[in-house]
Amino acid sequence: MTMKTQMIDAGFAAFRLSGLHRALAPLTRGHGVILTFHRVRPTGPQVTGFAPNRLLEITPEFLEEAILVTRRLGFEIVTLAEGCRRLAQGGPRFAVLTFDDGYRDTREFALPVLERREAPFTVFFVPGFIERTARLWWIELEEALRRLDEAAIETDGGGLRLPTRTLAEKNAAFARIYWALRARPEQELLDGVGALAQRAGLDMSAISRALFLDWEEAIAFSRSPLVTTGAHTMTHRMLAKWPAEMARAEMAQSKAALEARFGRQVDAFAYPVGDPTSAGPREFEMAGAVGFSCAVTTRPGMVFPEPAARFGQRTLAGRGSLGDAALRGSVRPVEPRAKVECRSEPCGPEVRPPRQARSSTALPQLGKLRLVGAGGQP
Ligand SMILES: [Zn+2]
Repeated sequence: MTMKTQMIDAGFAAFRLSGLHRALAPLTRGHGVILTFHRVRPTGPQVTGFAPNRLLEITPEFLEEAILVTRRLGFEIVTLAEGCRRLAQGGPRFAVLTFDDGYRDTREFALPVLERREAPFTVFFVPGFIERTARLWWIELEEALRRLDEAAIETDGGGLRLPTRTLAEKNAAFARIYWALRARPEQELLDGVGALAQRAGLDMSAISRALFLDWEEAIAFSRSPLVTTGAHTMTHRMLAKWPAEMARAEMAQSKAALEARFGRQVDAFAYPVGDPTSAGPREFEMAGAVGFSCAVTTRPGMVFPEPAARFGQRTLAGRGSLGDAALRGSVRPVEPRAKVECRSEPCGPEVRPPRQARSSTALPQLGKLRLVGAGGQP
């Protein structure tokens, strides 16, 4: 047995022990799955200490396991366009791999795995991250609390002043501030985290450069034959919290900017954060109106054929000895004017939650594995 085989076998054992394998099994009842990843890097999940955003990370080994297990369970890994097509028109069970935000490590650590396993995937880029102008508020919050001994924020709902000297204090403060600000208008969130970042002396432009590909790198990456390029707004805004004009512009401009740079049509879209406070019926309709043929959220649920083709969802997360994992996603083919054709009614834009049986069969089991809450959403 080669070292590599041993490693993979050990990985599978760990994967099974982690419960992820068992957790994936109920998904075989679904028609398809969309897995959402963020960061992929070897060292992240092993980080001990203050790392509240590690829910957004997996290792390359975990990614490889996820691909292998997904295929073992009988899901064919296909492009997002093909997944949307099968959802609308039927076809064999499918899995779609998606990576949000356009992190540098998607190219450095995920791409080699995806190429080795010949797995097509989608990357949802944010022009503002590529140009270092959009705010990474969840990273800013982590980095600020890492440096500060005390964190104070002001919101319209009142002020918070929290000690952040010890690991326990930092973790508690992160959760408290994160959720307090997530409940507020996004500008308030940005202002509150921005003030903390300033007080901590963060150079966010440097952090952004380290985390995200620039245009030249993103364009080269987009040429990989396995990559589908998708949009994720201009500045990673929680669209439902903003006026319609701004939400529409964020979507349409990101599509146009990526198409101009990549020289190809961008048909897919992912709603930043993707929970009900970030994307709702208004945004679902907009996605079709600005020309996307397939748009994904991050909500719990399963992807099923008709009659729920227009709003299938799933969420899955696990934490095992291979590290933290966040496999999340959902898919919703948008309006018929877009490219996904729906052969039968209904295929309109209105929201219909997944059938109770869909989410309730999968989620309780996933919950045992530490289901990612909204904290794993950006
Ligand atoms: Zn995102």
